[in-house]
Amino acid sequence: MAATKTLAFVLKTQDYRDTSLLGVFLTQEHGKIRGILKGVRDARARYGSSLEPFSLNEILFYKRRRGGDLHQVTQADLVDLFTPVRDDLERLSYASYFTELLDALVEVEDPQPEIFDLLKDSLEFLSSGASARRSARIFEVKLLELLGLMPEIKACVVCRTESPDPAFFSVSAGGVRCAACQARSEKKGQASFSVSKGTLQFLSHVLRADLKALASVKVSQEVGEELEKILRRFVDYHLTYPLKSIIFLEKMGYTG
Ligand SMILES: [Zn+2]
Repeated sequence: MAATKTLAFVLKTQDYRDTSLLGVFLTQEHGKIRGILKGVRDARARYGSSLEPFSLNEILFYKRRRGGDLHQVTQADLVDLFTPVRDDLERLSYASYFTELLDALVEVEDPQPEIFDLLKDSLEFLSSGASARRSARIFEVKLLELLGLMPEIKACVVCRTESPDPAFFSVSAGGVRCAACQARSEKKGQASFSVSKGTLQFLSHVLRADLKALASVKVSQEVGEELEKILRRFVDYHLTYPLKSIIFLEKMGYTG
C-alpha cells in the first residue's frame, strides 16, 4: 500500500463500525475518495482536525489496490475551516449544499482538479461576503459544465438555430428550443418554459469567464430568480435523491 498525501475537502462523515469514521473527501489530485479513519471517535485529538464538513485538510491515506474503494486515512490536519462561512447561517447552508451536491454528482476516484478548485473558490467567495445566492448559481453552472451536464443554451437543441429569441427551456431536451420547435414539442405535451435573453446571456458569461473574475458580477432580481428556477430544475433532474440542504434552504426562505 502506498501512502498518499493530498489536500482534501470533507464532503461528509458518518460513524463506521464501533469507533471509526467513514469520510467522503474531495481531494485535489485523486478526485472524490472514501476513507476510513480508525478509532477516531475515541481519540479525536489524534487527528489535527475535527473533520467538519467543507473544512480543508491535508490528509494522508493508504490507497487500496484492490477490494473496494474504502481507503485508510491515517492523518488529517486542518488547513482552513472557512470560519466566516460558519458564522452565518445562510452561508453555512449554501456551503452545505455545495458539499452535498458534489457528493451526489461527482464520481468516486475520477480526478478533476478543476472541481476541487471550484469548491475552494466558491467557499472563498462565501467567506468574502459575496452574495450567497449568486455564489450558488455560479457554482451550479461551473459544476454542470465540468461534469459535462450543462444544458445547451447557445442554439436550439432541435434545429440548431443560433441564439433563438424567444427561447424556451426544456429540462428533458437538455437545453433551449426556438419558437417553432417549441410549438411542435408542445403538441406532443413536452414540458418547458420561456427563458429571457438576460438569463441566457448571464449563463454564457459565467461559462466563459474565469471564476475569480465573477466575484463582482451583478444580476437583476428577475434574472436571478429565473436562473435559480432553471438551475434548480436541471440539478434536480440529475439527482437520484432529494438533498437535505435544498430542503433546508427552502424552509429558511434562502431560495427564491
Ligand atoms: Zn428549433
